[in-house]
Amino acid sequence: MSSTPAAVALVRDVSKTYGKNKALDNVSVEVMPGEMVALIGPSGSGKSTLLRSITGLIPIDSGKGYIEVFGERVQQNGRTTSQVRRARARLGFIFQQFNLVGRLSLFANVMLGALGRLPLWRGLLGRWPEEDKLRAMAALHRVGVADYAAQRANTLSGGQQQRGAIARAIVQGAQAILADEPVASLDPVSARKVMEQLVELNSRDNMGVIVTLHQVDYAIRYCKRVIALQKGRIVYDGPSSGLDKQTLIGIYGPEFEDAFWETQA
Ligand code: ADP
Repeated sequence: MSSTPAAVALVRDVSKTYGKNKALDNVSVEVMPGEMVALIGPSGSGKSTLLRSITGLIPIDSGKGYIEVFGERVQQNGRTTSQVRRARARLGFIFQQFNLVGRLSLFANVMLGALGRLPLWRGLLGRWPEEDKLRAMAALHRVGVADYAAQRANTLSGGQQQRGAIARAIVQGAQAILADEPVASLDPVSARKVMEQLVELNSRDNMGVIVTLHQVDYAIRYCKRVIALQKGRIVYDGPSSGLDKQTLIGIYGPEFEDAFWETQA
C-alpha cells in the first residue's frame, strides 16, 4: 500500500483580513514535495501574506480555514498551533533583505542553521561540532560563496548574502524553501544565480520551493507551476507554460503589457 506524501503546504479556505481589507479571500492551494512554484500577482495581491501565513508568522482569520505544513496543522481557527515550531524547523526561509546577521561572518551565519539541533550554549560560544562545520563549508561551496566564508555578512553583496541564506537552509536540513521576493533587490546576474541555486536544490534534492516573484519572466523561466493572486484570490494555478499574453493581462491589467514584452525582447 502506498501512501501519498504529505504536502509541503496545504492551505484550505484561508482568509486574512486587515481592517476591511481582505488580503486573502478564501484561498485554497496545495504544494507537494519536489514542486517549484512561483507566486505572482500585482503588488498588494496577497503573495507575501500567503507565504507568511504558511510559516505561521501571520495568524489567519478565524473560521473553517486551516493550514498544514508536511501534514502538521500549523494554523486553524485563527490561531497558530503548538506544531508550528516543528513545522518551521523543516522550512528554510529567504526574504528580500535582512537575511543574515550583518556583524557575523558568513560562516557563522550559515552555522546558525544548525542551531535547532544543538544546545544553545554551543552556538553562543561558537563551539560547533566538526561535522556541522564541514556541512557548513560544503553548503557554502555548493552555492558558490565559500571564498567569502570569513567575511562579515554586511560586507557582502546582496546576491552573496542570498546565497548564504540558501546555504543556511541546507545546513538546517530544510525540506522545503519559502522565499519572499528573494531576487527583488538584486541585479540581473545575481538574481539569475540565486534562482539557479533554488532550481538546483529543487531538482537535485527534490526540495519543495515556493517563491514570490514580481518579475513574471523569472517565474516563467524557473518555475514549472505558477499561482497568480489578484486582490487576495487565486486567479491562475497551472503550468507556467500556460501563461499566455491574455492571461497575464488578465492578472496584471493592460498597463503590464508593455513592461512584460520588453523584458522578453
Ligand atoms: P503582495 O505581497 O502581493 O505585495 P501583501 O500580501 O504584502 O501583497 O499585501 C496584501 C494586502 O494586505 C495589501 O492590501 C496590503 O496593504 C495589506 N497588508 C499587508 N500587510 C498588512 C499589515 N500588516 N497591516 C495592514 N494591511 C496589510
